[in-house]
Amino acid sequence: MTAVNDTATTLFAELTGREPDGLWSAPGRVNLIGEHTDYNDGFVLPFAIPHRTVAAVGVRPDGVGRVRVASTFAAEPVEVAIDELDRLFPTAAGAEPAVPEWAAYPLGVAWALAQAAGVAGTGVDIAIASDVPVGAGLSSSAAIEGATASALNDLWGAGLDRTALARVGRRAENEAVGAPTGIMDQMATMLGERDAATFLDCRSLEARPVPLRIAESGLAILVMDTRVAHAHSTGGYRERREACERGAAIMGVPSLRDVSVADLPRAEELMDDVTFRRVRHVVTENQRVLDTVRVLGEKGPRAIGELLVASHASMRDDFEISVPELDTAVDTALSAGAIGARMTGGGFGGAAIALIEADAERAVSEAVTAAFADAGFGAPHIFTVLPSAGAGRDA
Ligand code: ADP
Ligand code: MG
Repeated sequence: MTAVNDTATTLFAELTGREPDGLWSAPGRVNLIGEHTDYNDGFVLPFAIPHRTVAAVGVRPDGVGRVRVASTFAAEPVEVAIDELDRLFPTAAGAEPAVPEWAAYPLGVAWALAQAAGVAGTGVDIAIASDVPVGAGLSSSAAIEGATASALNDLWGAGLDRTALARVGRRAENEAVGAPTGIMDQMATMLGERDAATFLDCRSLEARPVPLRIAESGLAILVMDTRVAHAHSTGGYRERREACERGAAIMGVPSLRDVSVADLPRAEELMDDVTFRRVRHVVTENQRVLDTVRVLGEKGPRAIGELLVASHASMRDDFEISVPELDTAVDTALSAGAIGARMTGGGFGGAAIALIEADAERAVSEAVTAAFADAGFGAPHIFTVLPSAGAGRDA
């Protein structure tokens, strides 16, 4: 039993006075490379991290068709009738969800899963605990979706496969919460494997594990959480999506996946400067993902440093989704000897990662912490992660 499992079990007992039928969990993720490419039908290379969200879930013994959710993050549980879910969701564009926002993740999963599987669903109680940092770009949202979807898939006998459960999570996030995110996070949390990243084609949803060999190469991946909170349902993320759609329309293609590096000179002639730079980020980032997969296979993880650094520069200068805290983390890690570093996740805050020699963890961490203090930023939260297993039943 991990501490998070214990917490979820205790919360379940407080909520219901019973033992749960089981524990299901799903991890957060780090995206190694491939940012803002998912909703452009492109390529991504995320891996699941050891931090997990746990759902302790039990079918209601009284047969009442209601879903009740509680989380250690929320003061009050939220309860709705199952036959009300179709009335609550989807949330109208631009409107607040009909339930507290955090509850729209698990309840949106219940709604989307029942629809996808064509099952009615029985009444359930769900208690959620997590050690995934929230709003840090490590996808606590996909973790809560993945844990809930795995549990309900089993308890409702829905029989959906992992890719279908990822789609359920995405639908909950897009249509119940109203955050216009792509499919990467949900696929990463559903398909994660130890010591491998998931190479995902976001158009076909074909995925395959790519061995990373981090620990066996004497390396480590440092997560530098800036503690600057980001929000996907508002502002910049949505604007970037719109710029990508505009760019694809100007190029006369369904999505930027269909634009190659060789097409960029033509794109530059056709577009305003801002749209062009958004397009250039996505097009070159897709290529960097493919290059990273190839280099990992041919030369191993030590050889991908330049690709990570180029990805960060593209996000900072072309896509303009970095913030000073992320740039400071990346620049300082590199000066302190990191092999590569980049911001990870949607941007506007959240975390950066650095690929480092395992024995440099302390030196790099201290350098970044000192640089944050010098710059007058709040203290970062720095820790290492290893690629870990995906969602599933734990007990
Ligand atoms: P990220 O996925 O990078 O952590 P998001 O903004 O996408 O950030 O998702 C964070 C939101 O997900 C939180 O504000 C909360 O609404 C919800 N959430 C995540 N984990 C939990 C949890 N354990 N309990 C309740 N809500 C959660
Ligand atoms: Mg998220």
